[in-house]
Amino acid sequence: MQKIIVAIDGFASTGKSSLAKRLAKSLNYTYIDTGAMYRAITYFYLQQFNTNFINKKELISSLANIKIHFEDNLLGQKTFLNNVNISEEIRQNHVNSEVSNIAKIKEVRTFLVKQQQVLGKDKGIIMDGRDIGTVVFPNAECKFFLTATPQVRAKRRYLEQLKKDSSESYESVLANINKRDRIDRSRYTSPLTKAEDAYEIDVTELSLGEVYEIIWSYVSRKLDNRVS
Ligand code: C5P
Repeated sequence: MQKIIVAIDGFASTGKSSLAKRLAKSLNYTYIDTGAMYRAITYFYLQQFNTNFINKKELISSLANIKIHFEDNLLGQKTFLNNVNISEEIRQNHVNSEVSNIAKIKEVRTFLVKQQQVLGKDKGIIMDGRDIGTVVFPNAECKFFLTATPQVRAKRRYLEQLKKDSSESYESVLANINKRDRIDRSRYTSPLTKAEDAYEIDVTELSLGEVYEIIWSYVSRKLDNRVS
């Protein structure tokens, strides 16, 4: 069967990555977490320059020293920066607070979009992010755009983090989500927006399982239509 590209875009903490991973497993496709790529660059910058003040020039000239790749193991997908596994580090608070400021830099986006397009060139991928259906793969066969209220998203993220023994308060998680939304939506280069032909799903009142059913039936129909 011919393979397709599925783009899952939307706001932070709407369940994009859990849904994308599950869909990739069902279809035996590759899952690509583009947020992890922006996080890897952010982590690199914060480590290298040891400051939260982002010097654009410095960052752009160091892009050539950054190699990101993914590896799958029994515990899931791991993100590597210059061959070092940084999967845990890129989820830390200092990365959360700076990632959107780094992701709004045009050169950073160009650098990563090119790599994402290479990763998806043979199709058979589920890619989640903010600009997959609009910029990275505007011709993707299936596009989803997930939304939910900031409060519901913050609650989900907060509960998830509690399980990992995080001491971050609900208020701080909500503030970070609101900050990232604002920067992601208002940036000049490929702002977070729904592609015209994307299927928008408001997940506020839905469980992850319910959202998955919606996505699965839409994708299955698309695949069936391609066969017949
Ligand atoms: O998906 P995740 O929440 O891990 O993404 C972290 C940040 O990376 C987002 O808030 C956004 O600023 C940026 N991002 C982006 N474009 C993508 C994926 C992520 O700008 N395709």
